[in-house]
Amino acid sequence: MSVARHAAVVGSGPSGFYAVEALLNALPNVTVDMFERLPTPYGLVRSGVAPDHPRLKQVTLVFDKIMQSERVNYFGNVAIGQDISVNSLREAYDIVIFAYGAGDDRKMAIPGEDLVNSHSATEFVGWYNGHPDFRDRVFDLSQEVAVVVGHGNVAADVSRILLQPADELRRTDIAAHALEVLAESKVREVHLVGRRGPAQAKFTSRELRGLRLIPNCLAAVHGDAVVIGSACEKELAYPSNLNALQNVELFRGLCGPGSGPQSRRLIFHFYLNPGRLEGDGRVENFIFRKNTLDGEPFKQAAIATDELETIKCGLAFGSIGYRGQPVEGVPFDVRRGVVPNWKGRVESDGVPVEGLYVTGWLKRGPTGIIGTNRADSIETVQQILEDVSSPGLKSRQGRDALVASLSRQRVSVVDLQDWLQIDANERARGQEVSKPREKFTRVTEMLDIASSHRLRKAEKRGRVRVG
Ligand code: NAP
Repeated sequence: MSVARHAAVVGSGPSGFYAVEALLNALPNVTVDMFERLPTPYGLVRSGVAPDHPRLKQVTLVFDKIMQSERVNYFGNVAIGQDISVNSLREAYDIVIFAYGAGDDRKMAIPGEDLVNSHSATEFVGWYNGHPDFRDRVFDLSQEVAVVVGHGNVAADVSRILLQPADELRRTDIAAHALEVLAESKVREVHLVGRRGPAQAKFTSRELRGLRLIPNCLAAVHGDAVVIGSACEKELAYPSNLNALQNVELFRGLCGPGSGPQSRRLIFHFYLNPGRLEGDGRVENFIFRKNTLDGEPFKQAAIATDELETIKCGLAFGSIGYRGQPVEGVPFDVRRGVVPNWKGRVESDGVPVEGLYVTGWLKRGPTGIIGTNRADSIETVQQILEDVSSPGLKSRQGRDALVASLSRQRVSVVDLQDWLQIDANERARGQEVSKPREKFTRVTEMLDIASSHRLRKAEKRGRVRVG
């Protein structure tokens, strides 16, 4: 019979849950502790997926089943690197999988990026989704014109949320504080700017189509024509590049003057490199450098020319991708923002680090959709399977002592029952205002729910006398 194994998974977003699922399937004698910095699980499914995309959130039904397995324990509100060091984790668990994603944003690194009303998409997305870290950010939506830099799905989400009438969002799980501000928004025009061409835009066609359907909003291509060169034509001829071909066709459909009484406008710009933001203390102008493309098909780089283009705007968002963050005790590739690894085995200077694994965005970088993480986590667990069947992977006993140390440190651990209470409360609050849930957006609120639930339970058991 195989040895009992203790595994720790750090992070409870899609890659974390898929890693737990793969571990449970592959190793009958494994028990898994899932650590999450926030009290709430689901990572970007809760705090990244746009509120008007409820279908994408249904994957939490799968995650709930995984979480409820007898072999899984949830430890919410426990930060690895703060409440528990990576070294302590390594001493206590045979297997440690890092799955905490890519929480940082990539900066445009241009002059003026720190002006008032210049933001990263990450902050805005976190804010409207009620992530506690971004709860108190302020977005000045009294501005009429916004620029969003980046042609990926996050930029699409940001543009849609900015332009969508607030009434379209009222029945979603958008955070109440954001809905209130969006309802008063004066934003009427969003310029969605890419540094390369229509054939290189990273929007999935489905998301791009969605941008054409925003009520009362005209979507148009700046300059009234889709311009692509011969290398782009070659790219579009590849059957595997169907998404790009569909995108180019969609963009072509957005050329021309457009008609109708729409009061809002979404304008796509191509071949523009962010140059600088200017303004008297706050954003007033976004200066771009026009680009040409150079290189072989699929390797075309944007080359800045001397020609400038200015977009007058009062708000700017950089939406040019995410980056992983390092945690002390784990090797980190600063340039790529990932943990160096071979198929999920963490490596230090090319040598595997015993017992450490990685999955998801922290492993491969911030690419792909939610489902991409399933195959990624299966690949990581495949490496673990090989390691556990070789004599190399040590068996460790310190798990119970480590868990006990959390209460000694007075860490308010949120377990599965606590989360179910928070969840039920959010749903009940949502029902009152015809939303699927009204999220708690402060950690203290969440912990209050958890502790009052524990108190009620203790009272029921007669351990605590009231009055
Ligand atoms: P992304 O898809 O990688 O797009 C990043 C965009 O930023 C690209 O257009 C890129 O242009 C541009 N960019 C990068 N560096 C730049 C720079 N220095 N200056 C100007 N532009 C720059 O990233 P994302 O939008 O953050 O999305 C992350 C992942 O989440 C993606 O896989 C996405 O599909 C996924 N996601 C999915 C959904 C959904 O399924 N509904 C929703 C949101 C996010 P280049 O191509 O030239 O590098």
